[in-house]
Amino acid sequence: MKTFGGTWHSTPQSIVPCRSIDDVAAAMLIARKKRLKVRPHGTGYSWTPYLLTKGISLDMSAMDHIIAIDPVARSVRVEAGVRLRHLNHQLEQQGLALPSLPFLIDQTIGGAIATGTHGTSRKGGTLSDSVRAMTLVRADGKIIRIDASSPPDQLAAARVSLGMLGVITEVELGLVANPRIHAMEREMPMADFLRRHEALLAHANQGWAHWHLGSGMVKVLTLEEAKGGHPYLTGGKPAWINPPPPSLLERLRGAFQRKAPLPESKPYAPDQNITAMEYSLPLSQMAEAIEELQTSDFASDWPDKVLELKFLGASPHSFLGLNADGPVVCFSLYWPMRPEDDKLAPLVKLETVMRSLFAKPHWGKYHQIPNKAYLKRAFKHWDRFEKQRAAFDPDGMLHAFG
Ligand SMILES: Cc1cc2nc3c(=O)[nH]c(=O)nc-3n(C[C@H](O)[C@H](O)[C@H](O)COP(=O)(O)OP(=O)(O)OC[C@H]3O[C@@H](n4cnc5c(N)ncnc54)[C@H](O)[C@@H]3O)c2cc1C
Repeated sequence: MKTFGGTWHSTPQSIVPCRSIDDVAAAMLIARKKRLKVRPHGTGYSWTPYLLTKGISLDMSAMDHIIAIDPVARSVRVEAGVRLRHLNHQLEQQGLALPSLPFLIDQTIGGAIATGTHGTSRKGGTLSDSVRAMTLVRADGKIIRIDASSPPDQLAAARVSLGMLGVITEVELGLVANPRIHAMEREMPMADFLRRHEALLAHANQGWAHWHLGSGMVKVLTLEEAKGGHPYLTGGKPAWINPPPPSLLERLRGAFQRKAPLPESKPYAPDQNITAMEYSLPLSQMAEAIEELQTSDFASDWPDKVLELKFLGASPHSFLGLNADGPVVCFSLYWPMRPEDDKLAPLVKLETVMRSLFAKPHWGKYHQIPNKAYLKRAFKHWDRFEKQRAAFDPDGMLHAFG
């Protein structure tokens, strides 16, 4: 088995295809008897070694049923192996959508939640923030449902857990009405962006920025809610996959403000030779981080590249989410590389700056495994998460780092 892009490899003792919750529980008991570690996987669309094990790897992708959509309660119950693409299609038929979608939609819901996967919404947070309840199979084979009636720390730990509390088999998520949006595109120098970002993004349904490292120009993209606009989800895809044309006015403004030509960005082609890293920082540290990156080798070594900035509102709903301690900016590197390039070189430089600021790593993207001291400093509630993890799995059978 290997991670996305082939950075990490491992040969598990066995890969168990799970078709039901009983399959998961049975595999867990066998692993326990043989003292093997267990790692579940969805589509394997992550760059982190946590996906892999030398023990038992559970393939969750066949648990792919949408159990019920409730338009009145605005919720959906799904098995963990359901892919976002399939779920989007079904929700769209009923005029509904998930509040926050990532830029890729081929992941399973279980994998996306386990890693705190997100889009870019100051209102919507991460996908994990919309989890209302979930069913897990614990390391001792017991099946447990966690919901609003459970001790609050259990739900906050389970919402982003990398599978360390148990294998997620079923999830209930909150939904929103599929919004109607206008796409806006503006270009400006970084200094202007730093001054104006709150006003530009605060009311947008979704908003993100592409920072062209060489010119210092920033392309700001927002999806603004508007009656008569395009539906956010169409054909199961969010607006960033098939973007509606920006409004004419904004296009003209962009043309007048343009100081340097920006490269065509096609960042989400399904290309395996992609290098990706993401760290999040409190929004209040955005200017400091950008200054550090501008003055380090990072910007000068890759003047043709674009670094993406995504934004998330604060959410108290999880302990390990990128936005668990306040509103954040996510520095997201997603670069197609040539075969002869050293894929790790840009990552090392970005990570050095991000780690000097105790930024939080995205649990599904490439990063060095943080030590305990770093985790405690980066995640204010790390100890509360660890307490729940130890209660659910005292032997560390599902531990991702060990
Ligand atoms: C091309 C590409 C684009 C991406 N774009 C975005 C983006 O826009 N935004 C974003 O936030 N992320 C993005 N990601 C990251 C991606 O969303 C996460 O890595 C996600 O976890 C992948 O889902 P998966 O089903 O492939 O999970 P896997 O990669 O199979 O697993 C990821 C982790 O989740 C655990 N896990 C999987 N299933 C379960 C389960 N049922 N129960 C418990 N634990 C489980 C695994 O053990 C592993 O640690 C992108 C990744 C790729 C490859």
